[in-house]
Amino acid sequence: METPVVGVLGGGQLGRMLAEAGHRLGIKVVVLDPLGEASPAGQVTHGAIQGSFNDAEKIQELARQVGVLTVEIEHVNCDALDAVVAAGTPVQPSPHSIRLIQDKFAQKQHFAAHNLPLGAYREVASAEDVAAAGQSFGYPLMLKSKRMAYDGKGNAVVANEEGIGAAMEALKSTDLYVEQWVPFVKELAVMVVRGATGEVTAYPVVETRQQDSICHTVLAPAASTQDVQQRATNIACKTVAALEGAGVFGVELFELEDGRVLLNEVAPRPHNSGHYTIEACEVDQFEAHLRAIVGLPVEGTRLAVGASLMLNILGTGQAADAQALMQTAMSTPGARLHWYGKAGDRPGRKLGHITLVADDISDLRERLVQLSPNTAQEVL
Ligand code: ATP
Ligand code: MG
Ligand code: MG
Repeated sequence: METPVVGVLGGGQLGRMLAEAGHRLGIKVVVLDPLGEASPAGQVTHGAIQGSFNDAEKIQELARQVGVLTVEIEHVNCDALDAVVAAGTPVQPSPHSIRLIQDKFAQKQHFAAHNLPLGAYREVASAEDVAAAGQSFGYPLMLKSKRMAYDGKGNAVVANEEGIGAAMEALKSTDLYVEQWVPFVKELAVMVVRGATGEVTAYPVVETRQQDSICHTVLAPAASTQDVQQRATNIACKTVAALEGAGVFGVELFELEDGRVLLNEVAPRPHNSGHYTIEACEVDQFEAHLRAIVGLPVEGTRLAVGASLMLNILGTGQAADAQALMQTAMSTPGARLHWYGKAGDRPGRKLGHITLVADDISDLRERLVQLSPNTAQEVL
């Protein structure tokens, strides 16, 4: 087999872990990132181009070096990706899916048209529109930017009518929509692989916890009933079946008190909620993504351990905090460290993660108490 070469727009931790999977499979990875070889991925890839993943010329330069192009971030220049496809280099998943997902409002409309269960939402163009939505949806309301959203940047909670002005001011965008507040009991996520011919395969349902809208922990499997897990899996598969192109997709969901499950949003790429798969599943999300986009069979999405917990190492502004956690991980049974090689540790920045695996949930709890007593209290 000829060695496939995969180009990745973006050189963050997701690109880095794609490259690590590539090393095992004999697939070469080249990234495009403003930090080039100094980016988390560029430090470990076969090649790195320094430049913006919005720069059409740089994207073409990358396309000339590879057999297939993919993304590790959805905020990329999709017109340039269309041109790459027209010039003969495949892009996976399809630029059509990436463009749709870039706009969270367009995404909602697409999934509503496919009869997927969503919370109520509405486009807003003015403070009056937000007030009218507040009248019908009630408060609090979630005001969201349609574009460029990640880690909750782009969301503002509107507590009551008096708070509308401040929320709109905070988002500094005119491209907005609102969502009714979802009183979820848990946030769930499912990684779904879409193969070359559109067939979908789901990983287990996991429970995610966010801290200030940033993913903090992921528990696999989720502590939800079999019924809820089945519903979440079905919705996630139907969601990804409604998109185009190959690769893994991260599907974020809300579990409600009565057992209903609603779709939140989708990422067209490996996802933080799927990092646990490296230690806990037969084939991890990064390998599955590479296999899917180069047309290799995708197998092995099952859990291979009893239980797993992923803990993000988030920047606190104090380098010693991350150091202490890493040190403890070294002496915790079943703990594996992933360090991303980023410069700086500003608060909330994803610096690395630790995955714990165990035979069962009580074993996992014991290990988590050793690794991080505070997290153990919150999660298990
Ligand atoms: P990501 O980094 O996952 O792309 P994002 O910036 O696109 O995040 P969302 O997923 O829209 O943001 O929201 C971030 C978090 O805010 C969610 O994980 C959830 O905790 C909360 N949230 C979002 N929408 C709602 C809602 N309608 N009701 C209640 N909570 C919500
Ligand atoms: Mg998002
Ligand atoms: Mg999200």
